[in-house]
Amino acid sequence: MKSFKNADKEYIANTYGRFDIEISHGKGSLVYDINGKEYIDLSSGIAVNTFGMSDDSWVEAVYEQLKKCQHTSNLYYSEPCVRLAEILCKRTGAKKVFFGNSGAEANECAIKVARLWGAENKGEEYYNIITLKNSFHGRTITTLSATGQDVFHKYFNPLTEGFVYGEANNTESIEKLLKENKCCAVMMELVQGEGGVLALDKDFVEDVSKLCEKYNVLLVIDEVQTGNGRTGELYAYQCYGIKPDVVSTAKGLGGGLPIGACMMFEKTENTLKPSLHGSTFGGNPIACASAVHILNRIDEALLNEVKEKSAYVFNSLNGADGIKSVSGLGLMIGIETEGDVSVILQKCMENGILPIKAKNKLRLLPALNIPMELLAKSVDIIKKVASENK
Ligand SMILES: *Cc1c(COP(=O)(O)O)cnc(C)c1O
Repeated sequence: MKSFKNADKEYIANTYGRFDIEISHGKGSLVYDINGKEYIDLSSGIAVNTFGMSDDSWVEAVYEQLKKCQHTSNLYYSEPCVRLAEILCKRTGAKKVFFGNSGAEANECAIKVARLWGAENKGEEYYNIITLKNSFHGRTITTLSATGQDVFHKYFNPLTEGFVYGEANNTESIEKLLKENKCCAVMMELVQGEGGVLALDKDFVEDVSKLCEKYNVLLVIDEVQTGNGRTGELYAYQCYGIKPDVVSTAKGLGGGLPIGACMMFEKTENTLKPSLHGSTFGGNPIACASAVHILNRIDEALLNEVKEKSAYVFNSLNGADGIKSVSGLGLMIGIETEGDVSVILQKCMENGILPIKAKNKLRLLPALNIPMELLAKSVDIIKKVASENK
């Protein structure tokens, strides 16, 4: 196949540092470049392709909907989005769902819900939201503002007001902010993905949950990356045994099609009212039919498989030569190597595996159904490369 790299450089906005691989197609966890070189995909499009590339029964489910109706607008009733919302509510205890098209939009909705709830229940001046340093919540001006990392803020000021930043795993820092600011919510990822695949401490998460009760603010969990089976439960908050008031998700929900969802639980189920929010594409029938198919396949058996594969990776890499530490939860894994991570990533790609990076770590986000044999092969390559490039 002809290279399209130069055309990409000419016509695509220069925002992405791409790896030197031109992907052509794939099946499951195997992908091929335009020269026919085979790779084991270890990032699944950044936790998006839940069942890998062009999975047969997923293609079938999407195609069936495509033949019926591709879009209706939210002016009419449409079945796929109702079915999806029903599944999400039944499996999480959420009461209402709003659909958008991305993680940032799911978080925008969560932020609007938090402010609305604050205005209704506490007063309009209770608009502040506590997020964590080193978090990542998206690229719109408001979700950038929610993101607790200065590097993302530079050049885009003034950002949306009303975000204050606490420290992960430091309960006092959160309580201090709750005392000093008029807040409506605490919003956090339970495993900071872009921040370096760091799972929050269970004690801290439980403490924050209690503080939210004590100070009467909402607990908003950003499950854009951790959601949809990634951590070994359907949603990561289920691993932590907490009861959130709002949960946002996206990435893996559509298995490769763009969809985001904001789930509202008991306290917030009636917060959104007519004309207060909307989205033209939100609840798109194709994306929703795709997500229904994905969620129906994320059952107990698959979640157990995720846990087993996770344990296998942690056990194989912990303490291995050239590897400093392994972090994360489920199949969201960060690997700190002794050698330079960029060099190691390059060698991995040369050896036919495609992990990505998060901060100074190698990051693995494979398809949830990656075959054990491909995972084992990948782990062996990572061990070899890490030990040869210390
Ligand atoms: C990726 C991500 C987002 C942003 O999602 P987009 O679909 O890129 O808008 C938000 N929060 C978290 C935790 C993410 O990992």
